[in-house]
Amino acid sequence: MSDRYLGFANSKIGRLIVSTLGLPRPPLLRRESDDSPHSLSGNVHVGISTGSLYATQIRQSLENTDLQWIGDNGQGNRHLVFDASGIRNTDQAEELYQFFHKNISKLPRCGRVVIIGQQPENIERIDHAIAQRGLVGFVKSVAKEIGRKGAVANLIYLNGFGHKGLAAPLRFLLSAGCAFTNGQVFSLTTPVSELPTDISWQRPLEGKLIVVTGAARGIGLAMSQVLARDGAKVIGIDVPQAQEALEKSMSEINGLPLALDITAEDAAERLIDCCAQQEGRLQGIVHNAGITRDKMLSRMNDQQWRLLMDINIGSIQRINKALLATEMLDQGGRIVGVASISGIAGNLGQSNYAYSKSAVIGMVDSMASVCAKRGITINAVAPGFIETQMTAAIPFATRQVGRRLSSLSQGGLPQDVAEVVSFYLSPQAAGVNGNTVRVCGQSLMGA
Ligand code: NAD
Repeated sequence: MSDRYLGFANSKIGRLIVSTLGLPRPPLLRRESDDSPHSLSGNVHVGISTGSLYATQIRQSLENTDLQWIGDNGQGNRHLVFDASGIRNTDQAEELYQFFHKNISKLPRCGRVVIIGQQPENIERIDHAIAQRGLVGFVKSVAKEIGRKGAVANLIYLNGFGHKGLAAPLRFLLSAGCAFTNGQVFSLTTPVSELPTDISWQRPLEGKLIVVTGAARGIGLAMSQVLARDGAKVIGIDVPQAQEALEKSMSEINGLPLALDITAEDAAERLIDCCAQQEGRLQGIVHNAGITRDKMLSRMNDQQWRLLMDINIGSIQRINKALLATEMLDQGGRIVGVASISGIAGNLGQSNYAYSKSAVIGMVDSMASVCAKRGITINAVAPGFIETQMTAAIPFATRQVGRRLSSLSQGGLPQDVAEVVSFYLSPQAAGVNGNTVRVCGQSLMGA
């Protein structure tokens, strides 16, 4: 489960050997630490396109952080933010080029690039929509250029004016939390006129009750730990066979273990009963439990199709239906799905898995507006190659290829997926709805 080449290539001797042989050196990534998560530091240089819409919001969003603002003539390395919302035609897009042409070399190791634009689908003027759509290709290419520095670039699309909701994605994308989230688009689809006044940026989930399925190990375990770090009370669910591991991991984070097979007939009822017995209302559920049953179609048996569908999508639909039949999640609740890049790109021998993960994306797309009407958000992460027991089972050569075929030339850690999930669950992210974001280090698969 550990990437030995990454450690070797970054050791003193390894560095020498790797550069002599001309081998790739995957960068060491900067991640959130347990003692001061979500702190923002370093220099930031904010560029503004002519006629931009969000200059004031950007400034307000970054107030009370340790970021040092730096201008055109400032010295030193800096994270780069560019408000491209004013770009109304493709000629004007040269402002984007000029800003990054001058500043991209000043990006530090593990630096952050954030571009802000307007959602093209909601722009009436065709030239304007075209100019804004171009930002996707631009940010993805920037992400590829800077990946070898361990730096990432992402895009935020806003929909409309006066968006207070910008603070959450902007701060997240400048933080260490997005170490493995690269070349992605975060869309703010729900207007946020005011943020709650009692929120904490350091512990955004303070006192919030959150259910995580598949919490005994791997990504679900990391999610539980990160959510607890961010203040949540976690109800961790896993199959009865994993009860011992589940109890141990929940006791370490002061969480609550619930041994439950999510495919059981009474699973939704037991989950809801368990939540109802806790103090405080349910903030959200993370549908993380999932399995693979890889086989070429001609060799796949009925059980390998049916069991996987039941766990990876069927049970999730049943639990969502049962939860939405109550008002438990209304006005502030969160639903988070865990898809996969296999569900975006397809994968050899994974037709069952890819179907189920594509269906998770479909669930987010089709439920977003229904949820928005009730003040609920629904989003998903689509992990790429993440170092877990699931990927440790992949044959050696395929595993090495899977790891290196991304802009960051390495697999992600379970924590990387967990950070995005914690962001989705936070009260500050109320405007982020209907998103599926890849956490894949900009894997070439399906890119
Ligand atoms: P994992 O196998 O390490 O952990 C999955 C957990 O889900 C296990 O603890 C398992 O016991 C639990 N589980 C399985 N069936 C269950 C059921 N019926 N009821 C309750 N719990 C059940 O897997 P992981 O690598 O941590 O993956 C977690 C999620 O991320 C899965 O949905 C997976 O498809 C997805 N994913 C993982 C990767 C990766 O690279 N590891 C990539 C893309 C997507």
